[in-house]
Amino acid sequence: MADRGGAPEAGSLVETGRGARRSQHRRRIILSELALTVTFTLTVLHGLVEADELISVRVFLAGWAANLLVLALCCVLPWQRIPTRWVILVPLVDFAAIGLSRAAAGESIPGMGLLAAFPVVWIAASRLRTVTAVAVTAVASLAIIWIPLALGDTPVTVDALVDPILLPFMLAGLAWFVNALTKESRQRQEALRASQAALRESVAAGRARERLLGTVLDTVSVGLLAVDADGHDILMNARQRDVHAAAAPSGNDDPSEADLLVFGEDRITPVPPEVRPVRRAILGEELEDEQVWVGTGRSQRALSISSSSMHDDDGSFAGTVVSFHDVTELVLALQAKDDFLSNVSHEFRTPLTSILGYIELTLEIDDLPGVASSHLEVARRNAVRLEQLVEDLLAINAGSFQVNPVPTDVGRILAEATSSGSVRAARAGLRLVNRAPRSLPAVVDPVRLAQAVDNLLTNAVKYNRRGGSVTLDACQGEDGLVVEIEDTGIGIEEEDLHRIFDRFFRSPSVRTSSVPGVGLGLLITKTIVSEHRGSISVTSERGKGSCFTILIPQEGR
Ligand code: ADP
Repeated sequence: MADRGGAPEAGSLVETGRGARRSQHRRRIILSELALTVTFTLTVLHGLVEADELISVRVFLAGWAANLLVLALCCVLPWQRIPTRWVILVPLVDFAAIGLSRAAAGESIPGMGLLAAFPVVWIAASRLRTVTAVAVTAVASLAIIWIPLALGDTPVTVDALVDPILLPFMLAGLAWFVNALTKESRQRQEALRASQAALRESVAAGRARERLLGTVLDTVSVGLLAVDADGHDILMNARQRDVHAAAAPSGNDDPSEADLLVFGEDRITPVPPEVRPVRRAILGEELEDEQVWVGTGRSQRALSISSSSMHDDDGSFAGTVVSFHDVTELVLALQAKDDFLSNVSHEFRTPLTSILGYIELTLEIDDLPGVASSHLEVARRNAVRLEQLVEDLLAINAGSFQVNPVPTDVGRILAEATSSGSVRAARAGLRLVNRAPRSLPAVVDPVRLAQAVDNLLTNAVKYNRRGGSVTLDACQGEDGLVVEIEDTGIGIEEEDLHRIFDRFFRSPSVRTSSVPGVGLGLLITKTIVSEHRGSISVTSERGKGSCFTILIPQEGR
């Protein structure tokens, strides 16, 4: 609601709440009236000194008394309960008081009419519209001139009416001027108030967001740490404080990063401070799933640490957010699974060896019926596969394969792999092509390389489609022996490419299909190649096929 008829407003009024505003309103009314009363009183006293007969002019004194009374009322009235539009009555009564004294004083106090400037300014600075303010002041100042004229004894002539009209003109002009100034200052104040309100709102919204973020950060089960570009902590959530406490040496309540107990995968080798994940993240390195152990004894925890850098608007490094995922249960479960696999494989080995031995002994019997011998052959083949799988599991668990590189004809290995794979390929409706030279000398472990090639060839057939093809190739390149197995099969999704050499990994589409497998073949192949100090790479396109390339360096080349 517009505050029509209010008292003049102080230029630097700042909204400080409703109570403060009310007391300011009251103070402004009293001070405005006081300024007039002081000037009025001085004018009256001056008039009395100059013309002492005025002391007996009741109307003169009545005007002064009316002004004093208005001041007293201003001091005692409960302005907070009076609608602000009624405040306009104060300057109007002042007009009347000035008019009375002026009329009574007559020529004794020539400038007394100028006192009307006070109520004029008051009215002009109120929230009245310009036209209304100017009209009210013009009418009021004309009234204080003309009414005494009309009530006096002297005849009312045009000259008598026009002569003093300069004063109302000037007062109306003053009202216009003050109104324009006040309007502008009020607009500025309102803009200031609006921007203060917007600022308060955005500060409140910022605080609410901060509270929300704090609650979210303390609710998640991941430890989070944010550091600025200089490596100073700017945020640490509750979970991370627990992790930090668990990593602190006993008796040290405020350890630095270097004091923390951080160990490698074996849980006992300390990680040097300069290569610790957090240190590297602070320096701007982006980490993904780096695993460390922190703390000692029963409270030791396995953490998977990742980080991402923050950048300013201009792209410069602004700090890092590091996340700490407690993977203790997962790591312990994986260890338990490995132990279980290893134990079971060991338990399988002895009876399998015995089964194979007895099958082979039985196969040596001369008068074995043909059907029995062919059944036993199938049993032998499967027992050999099972034995191989057990050996692979044990080797994978031990983390290495023994390789014994000797001069070998790799051309022959590929020819044998092609001939034994051709039955499977034909059954799957595939064309199997061997482009490798008939003879290709190299220094490799013949058994292990044959195993690696067989794994890749088996996959190229398994993950293919009827009517497709598999191509083998090999050569001695500049960097060593190159063996390539290419297929026109289902291909591998890009996001799976970096995981296909992981233990037990099978791509999701394969897992739901009927294609058999356990996800160890590529890991074994990679381990064999690594034991030869070589490398294996893959290129693949979903729906088009894959190409696996083995590179084994050859001494003296
Ligand atoms: P397995 O074949 O027993 O599943 P591997 O370790 O040999 O295990 O292969 C791992 C996974 O890689 C496979 O499950 C399959 O998803 C993918 N893969 C391997 N070779 C190929 C290939 N030639 N074409 C398409 N996918 C393949």
